[in-house]
Amino acid sequence: MPIYEYLCQECGKEFQYLVLKKEDEDALACPGCKGRTLKRLVSRVAYHASDQDRLAAFDPNAPRDDAFYKDTRNIGLHAKKRAQQMGVDLGSGFEAKLDRLRTDPGKVFDDTE
Ligand SMILES: [Zn+2]
Repeated sequence: MPIYEYLCQECGKEFQYLVLKKEDEDALACPGCKGRTLKRLVSRVAYHASDQDRLAAFDPNAPRDDAFYKDTRNIGLHAKKRAQQMGVDLGSGFEAKLDRLRTDPGKVFDDTE
């Protein structure tokens, strides 16, 4: 399923949205201002890497900027890496929670903006 990135042309907020069906996109509104003047952005990051590749390439000690945290696929990556290093199984509940965070990034980032 494609996750698209949108720019709200009314308030300038960028957000990502998981499009399950075409009708979802038609009804889409900005999570910041509820504006409907949205522009779909061409993804700036290729979506080829699998979760495992991403995890393998992730360096928990490298400095991260805003862009890292705006990429919802990176949510929970740090915790997963730590767990992997410690040999801890986070279980499917953790994955499900991550999926929810990743598909509804507006909620996650509301406090920081
Ligand atoms: Zn907006």
